[in-house]
Amino acid sequence: MLAKRLILSVVTVVSVAVAPLSHALKLKPYHSSYTGFELPEDVTMPEIEIHPSLWFDESEIEGLWQKKDRDGIAAQFWNEVSTNEFLLTDLPPIPRAEDEKSVIHKYYGTLTQAAMYNAFMSLFDTPRKQAYLDCAVQALQRGYAGPLYELDPIVKGSAVDEIYQGIWAQSFASAYDWVQSRLSVEQEETIRGHLIKHASYMNEHLFSWASSPHNHLSKPGWGLGTMALLLSNEPAAKTWLKTAIEGTNANTRYFFGSDGTYREGSHYYMFSMLNFLPFLYHYRNTTDYDPFPVFQPAFEWPLRIRNGKGWMPNQEDSFIRPFASHLVAAAFMDSPTELHSSAPLGRLLHWNFLNTDLDPFHASKQRTGFNYTGATWDYPKPLIEYLTYDPRIDPIAPNVEPTQFLESGQTAFRSDWSTGEQKHLFLLFQGVAEADNHQHYDHLSFSLFAENQMMSSDGGYTRKSYGEAMRKEWYLTAEAHNVVMVDGHAPQDIVPGVGPYSSDRIVAPGFASEKKTAVYQEGGTHSRIVSMIENDRFAIVDVIELPAERTVDIVMHGGRARLEGDKVRSVWYYEADTYGPECLMDQWFLGKGYSRRVKEGELTYIKGDYGAYPYFVQSKKTDRALAMHLLEPRETMTDGRSYEFLRKSNETIVVQAENQWHLCNISGKSVGEGSWETDALYAHVSFAESGFRKVAMIDATTFDSGEGLEIFLNAPCTLSVELLDTDELRIDFSADIDAQGVIRRGDREQRLNFRGRGAHTLK
Ligand code: MG
Ligand code: MN
Ligand code: CA
Repeated sequence: MLAKRLILSVVTVVSVAVAPLSHALKLKPYHSSYTGFELPEDVTMPEIEIHPSLWFDESEIEGLWQKKDRDGIAAQFWNEVSTNEFLLTDLPPIPRAEDEKSVIHKYYGTLTQAAMYNAFMSLFDTPRKQAYLDCAVQALQRGYAGPLYELDPIVKGSAVDEIYQGIWAQSFASAYDWVQSRLSVEQEETIRGHLIKHASYMNEHLFSWASSPHNHLSKPGWGLGTMALLLSNEPAAKTWLKTAIEGTNANTRYFFGSDGTYREGSHYYMFSMLNFLPFLYHYRNTTDYDPFPVFQPAFEWPLRIRNGKGWMPNQEDSFIRPFASHLVAAAFMDSPTELHSSAPLGRLLHWNFLNTDLDPFHASKQRTGFNYTGATWDYPKPLIEYLTYDPRIDPIAPNVEPTQFLESGQTAFRSDWSTGEQKHLFLLFQGVAEADNHQHYDHLSFSLFAENQMMSSDGGYTRKSYGEAMRKEWYLTAEAHNVVMVDGHAPQDIVPGVGPYSSDRIVAPGFASEKKTAVYQEGGTHSRIVSMIENDRFAIVDVIELPAERTVDIVMHGGRARLEGDKVRSVWYYEADTYGPECLMDQWFLGKGYSRRVKEGELTYIKGDYGAYPYFVQSKKTDRALAMHLLEPRETMTDGRSYEFLRKSNETIVVQAENQWHLCNISGKSVGEGSWETDALYAHVSFAESGFRKVAMIDATTFDSGEGLEIFLNAPCTLSVELLDTDELRIDFSADIDAQGVIRRGDREQRLNFRGRGAHTLK
């Protein structure tokens, strides 16, 4: 066993008193009414203070050295660490409060990273070991000299914003943890004094740094948590940890959902992970408490909503983001997951990383100097990657149903779990209860990824940065999303924390569907059905019911495309670009009495790469609107379907292309074409040469194929009924209520119960 050095309190008193918590932040009742998660507020402290202990203990240093030779990825991270610009750097001059904000910000980012990189490299027997140690100690000895304590982090665009301070604290903490056993008494006293002062400062001010429990509370909170675990011998350390857990719990209870959905969007999820991920490792490694299981849903959510290139969509205040799952895979090697029948989550997280296209993010880094973390100047990315990456993990893809319905209101339709395949189809259907920070008016909007390209899209976050006027003037507004506006407004929650209602969730062979219903502040509802058909196209049905006549605008964005077409048929053409290949999307709009306007609006997928692209709005003055959209992504125009109207009224629309029909109907009457008939709200009916083959229908009580197949139910259900080659009938159903029904085929009759989701087979 290695001798671990117990820290004796060599530090004499530092002149920062432990301040009482100043709860300037007044949590509102709704902040504790959402479905998120929390860590125990009865905190667990390390038994003794030992260094190193945050990321690894002394016995693991040899393994860290050997990791670099294990695979190409580890070698690449090691290369980025061992040739890093911060190694043996001349520390920049200490700035003054009057200096440019960027100078001050970059100074602390550089200083704390210099401390961490050099401390790390000083652990290994290389010719520069002592030089690295000297450089790390020199950086640590400076502490936060300069204007940090003079400047107010709350000021907009502050050079010392609390969201940076959390990362600076965690970098300094790691550095101290790695060099502590080699410090002289004087060095120890100075450095520990700086760290205690900063921890006390964060402890005192944490609850006054944010107006609600968003990332400006949680990010420094996790930083403070790390400091408490690092300096656990300090009398105040337990108080710091309690403050940290209390603050970060306020965030995780409210901004996360129980399924791990982060309501500030993908960008702020990753930006927060920069802090919570180190903290989770530090808490686990320094105590006998493991906080990872509580956070598990938060690491599954990005897998559930990843598109066909592994990107998290640009929903709410967000650019598209890769999920850096390689940082956390190793922590979940013993954790079963709902995403796989037998493999632990860690293997799926490793698969996610290996199956994420990072090219656009690398290209953006080359072009702009900024990486995907949102904290390029502060975050020691390759070092954290090297510390946490585990080359021994065997990757495995999820093996559960590719279409994922999330309790918090997002639904990810996908054809399969493949990556980078042209035939992969993905659509995110958005209906998450609005939170009070970084919220966009996007209820019931969708974004489509197909043919390996970004198609129908959310407008994104902003051009380059949060402070731009365009963010509020355009990017967060309803019209920057594929929503249905009434008098210019998207649906909005009436009650805090209660989002749109999701129903009619079904996944059957060749058919997956869901209906969501949202409310308008002025009264009325929007119900939208999204159906994925035969894994290669989507039907979307909109029903808008209002208390009085208003202007209804159905907004449709197609992404970074050239738009051609007319009122009924629009074709979006995509050029080969950073995000995907040349391809197109053939989009049909089927409704009566609408007028179409083509407009132009901005889109951003990655910071700085913004531009104006066409979108269209279908408008009508009415108190009851019905419309259907068919979205067919394709490589080229040659294999397009052509739809013909069979019926077009305010209440019923039926179109046909070859032996397939799409129907939507709010008349309350049964409707038929050719031989078949149904009272469904939406139905997709397919015949073959030999006759009836399949019907998928939403909110239906009757179907008659006209060829001896009849279905009657006592309440509206969602069904997919397919005549198999074996002459058996497969019936998949989704019943939001307990329903019963009769199915007749020729002279045979079956009585069935439809409850929840399931399937029946009839011989
Ligand atoms: Mg601030
Ligand atoms: Mn948006
Ligand atoms: Ca929203």
